[in-house]
Amino acid sequence: MRNQPGVLIVEDEPAIAELIAINLRHNGFRPTWAMDSVSAQRELDAVLPDVVLLDWMLPGESGLTLAKRWRANPRTKAVPIIMLTARGDESDRVAGLDAGADDYIAKPFSTKELLARVRAVLRRRAPEQAGGVVSIGGLMLDSATYRVSFGANMLKLGPTEFKLLHYLMKHAERVHSRSQLLDKVWGDHVFIEERTVDVHVKRLREALGTAGHMIETVRGAGYRLTAQAAQPTSGAAPSQVGV
Ligand code: CA
Repeated sequence: MRNQPGVLIVEDEPAIAELIAINLRHNGFRPTWAMDSVSAQRELDAVLPDVVLLDWMLPGESGLTLAKRWRANPRTKAVPIIMLTARGDESDRVAGLDAGADDYIAKPFSTKELLARVRAVLRRRAPEQAGGVVSIGGLMLDSATYRVSFGANMLKLGPTEFKLLHYLMKHAERVHSRSQLLDKVWGDHVFIEERTVDVHVKRLREALGTAGHMIETVRGAGYRLTAQAAQPTSGAAPSQVGV
């Protein structure tokens, strides 16, 4: 499964939201839609999207007010925001950018341009995810194409397992505690138990198949990805003495 970037569309006009959502979906994004500030806040409280497309004129609080509030909150301040609006005056653009928007698109816009802007903010916000290939002990992860392979085999990973593996590979040979992993990999979720880490490590090992043992459990400390745990040879199994 691909790790599709999540895009929250905050837009009160269903026709526009639908058009954007369809185009995003066709281009490998995972759109969700909130039609006012209250539901937008609820979405953001549940899961942080990779990008927010934020309409300026909304019922209730305006997009500008939302952008300011999200920028002031440590949890949401790094989420890229693209303001969508019919307002195209320079003073409005400046106000949008001052409120913390990363970019600004005036309606009517072409969906091609919108997609290009979304990709651009994703690249800017996550430079390490733009075409970064990490390779350790035959295990290879390409964060641009979301592909993982071990030797000649392509592997299928869920989105969380992908993020977890990416982090462990970028910081290989080091031991990471469960709480560190929660912070670095799940950082966008508020309520998650440490046990969740174990569940996903287990799934990751299963998905990695013969490379699964590269992820070591360090008792009382956490987990480590290591190239030292050499892949078992396909030839004669080593004789085992004791357990
Ligand atoms: Ca509107």
